[in-house]
Amino acid sequence: MAILELIDAYKAFGELEVLKGVNFSLEEGEVVSLIGSSGSGKSTLLRCLNALELLDQGILNYQGNPVSYQMKYLQKYRQEVGMVFQNFHLFPHLNVLENCTIAMKLVQKVEKKQAEKEAIEILGRVGMQDFIYSDVNCLSGGQKQRVAIARALCMKPKVLLFDEPTSALDPEMVNEILQVIKDLAKAGWTMAIVTHEMEFAYEVSSKVIFMDQGNIVEEGTPQQVLKNPKQERTKQFLQRYHKSM
Ligand code: ADP
Ligand code: MG
Repeated sequence: MAILELIDAYKAFGELEVLKGVNFSLEEGEVVSLIGSSGSGKSTLLRCLNALELLDQGILNYQGNPVSYQMKYLQKYRQEVGMVFQNFHLFPHLNVLENCTIAMKLVQKVEKKQAEKEAIEILGRVGMQDFIYSDVNCLSGGQKQRVAIARALCMKPKVLLFDEPTSALDPEMVNEILQVIKDLAKAGWTMAIVTHEMEFAYEVSSKVIFMDQGNIVEEGTPQQVLKNPKQERTKQFLQRYHKSM
C-alpha cells in the first residue's frame, strides 16, 4: 500500500495552474526522485504532499486515508512527513542541538534530557557530533544541511521529503550531503527527493518521475527514465541537462 498518494491533484496560485491533475504514489521503503525544469511544479508537488500547500482539487492520502486539512491534524501530519529545504530553514537564534530538540520538546513533549540524548545520537549519524553546541550561523552550507536533516529525523517521521537539498551548496559540499541521503536510503527510509543531480537520482532511486508544466510526463525505474526515456519532453530535458554539464 502507498504510504503517500496524490489522486488527480490540482493546485493553482491565482490564475497560474501549477499542478494539473497529478497522480503520485510513494510506497513504504521507496525512494522517488522528481526531476524536471525549473517552474514545472516539483516544489509545489512536494509541498502539497506534506500539506504546506493545500490542494484545490483531488485527494491526498496518507497510509490509505485522506489527510484532513483541519489544523489540529495538520500539525501531527507534518511531524510524520518531514521536509528538508534547499535553504536549510534553521532557527538562527538557536544552536545546533537546540535546533534539533525544540520541536521534540514543544510539539512532541519529549523531556529535555531524553530529547538531547536522541538528538545527539542523530547528529552523530550525520557527522555533526563535534558541533552540538555550535552557533548555526557559523556553519558551512553542508553542515547546516546536515543539521536540517538531523532536525527532520528527530521528529521520527515516516516519510522524508527533500526539496533540492544540495542546490544552495558550494560544489565541494554537494557530495557529502548526497552521501548522507544515500545512507538514509540504505537504512530503509521512505523518501521523495526533488533533485537536479542525475547521477545521484540514478543511484539512489527506486523510481524516477519527470515533471513538465504541472504534469507527470514519465515515470519508471532510473534505467527507464534516465537512460531510455520514451517521451520526447523527457529526452529534450535530459539532452539540455547533459549539454549544460
Ligand atoms: P519547481 O519547483 O519545479 O521549480 P514550483 O513548484 O516551485 O516549480 O513552481 C511552479 C510555478 O508556480 C512557478 O511558476 C512558480 O513561480 C509558481 N509558484 C510556486 N509557488 C507559488 C506561490 N506560493 N505563489 C505564487 N506562485 C507560486
Ligand atoms: Mg522547486
